[in-house]
Amino acid sequence: MKNRLLFLILSCMFLFAACNKAGDDRPEFTDTPSEQVQFDPETDFNNRFSGLCSIWENDDMYAWIPVDGEHIYYYDKATNDYGVLCPRPDCQHPLDDSCSAYILFGRHALSYQKGKLCYVANGGGSPQQLCVYSMNIDGSDKAILAEIPTIEALGGTPQQFYIHRNVLYMSISADIVEDGKPYMKQSFAALDLSDGKLTILYEEQVQSWIEGNSMVFMGDCAYFFTTAWLDDGSTRNKIMCWNARDDKLEVIMDAVMDGGIPTNGGLWVDNEQRVYFSTQEDPAKIFRVENNEPVEIISFKDPDGNYDYAFLSDGLIIALGGNDSDEKLIWVCDYSGKTLYKGVLQIPFDRDLPYSIYGVNGKGNEILAEFMIEPDSEDGSGSESYLVAYTITDEGIEYRIIGHTCK
Ligand SMILES: [Zn+2]
Repeated sequence: MKNRLLFLILSCMFLFAACNKAGDDRPEFTDTPSEQVQFDPETDFNNRFSGLCSIWENDDMYAWIPVDGEHIYYYDKATNDYGVLCPRPDCQHPLDDSCSAYILFGRHALSYQKGKLCYVANGGGSPQQLCVYSMNIDGSDKAILAEIPTIEALGGTPQQFYIHRNVLYMSISADIVEDGKPYMKQSFAALDLSDGKLTILYEEQVQSWIEGNSMVFMGDCAYFFTTAWLDDGSTRNKIMCWNARDDKLEVIMDAVMDGGIPTNGGLWVDNEQRVYFSTQEDPAKIFRVENNEPVEIISFKDPDGNYDYAFLSDGLIIALGGNDSDEKLIWVCDYSGKTLYKGVLQIPFDRDLPYSIYGVNGKGNEILAEFMIEPDSEDGSGSESYLVAYTITDEGIEYRIIGHTCK
């Protein structure tokens, strides 16, 4: 394949070989789950954006921090305009470092807290310092809301951030050595933005490889998972729930599984607090946790393509893959397994360019996907990101570009 779909899972990249298997035109499922969600848009993280994308939306607009971005961008739903989220008409962005939309290095967490757009970016007193910023949704009144504790205080390097109900949640990883033996540690922490109190919610240390990433939220509960490789090649997958109301941790699932590993952007909880996750493998699979055990409900088997990745989103499950003709494929279904669209994923630029897809999510008949064209080391050109909205219609699927980075 000239141009494989690449998915960045933190610093790790997982590629699965193409392998067509017999199957029908509908993903297999064994039960009918419900939809989500008790959601307060004034304070709650929108689980739709829990994967690698950093997007916030309201009825009027999207705000977006591209994975390679140096600015915050907006998309106006009424006018279809997009650009840098900057309130100054005379600003010389992207060249002006004083532009309020400029961020040295944006991180996951774009969120909304009682009238303010919040996000994590470098700032404060040192190049390593990370801060939580707040600003109005037009980009004005930017201010530092909180400084994030140091790597030493956190016990590792924060990987992904989520702001929910005035608390900054973090997944953290660290390589450590104890008694001459190397270990990898995965932890989750919460920083209360009102009083600065740091709480380590969970930590686990293994001698093999361990990862934890996506978090989703429901009311006072924060859900997260860890995946650790075992010596025989299987994985031990744990899903935990931290209840911030009574500071209690509950283990939702602790299961050894063969096959794929959970996908970043592949965790979901519905309004009845049923938990779902997806695995990266061929074919990608969707599981629901029942009685603390994973129960497979959907398998994206297809004779005409290999669907390796599936992202869980708001009422939609979106699987991506490829075929022998080097086309990118998309398969969208709801949580009952009903197919809403299946076909070729149109790419909004020359598909021979080396690119990655960093986050896919959806709701209703709309799917958002973030693409990054890789930097070219030969001609020295930088990376370039696109945010693309796909709309499922009776005739098929349409797309429009709703964000594009400027450098
Ligand atoms: Zn500006």
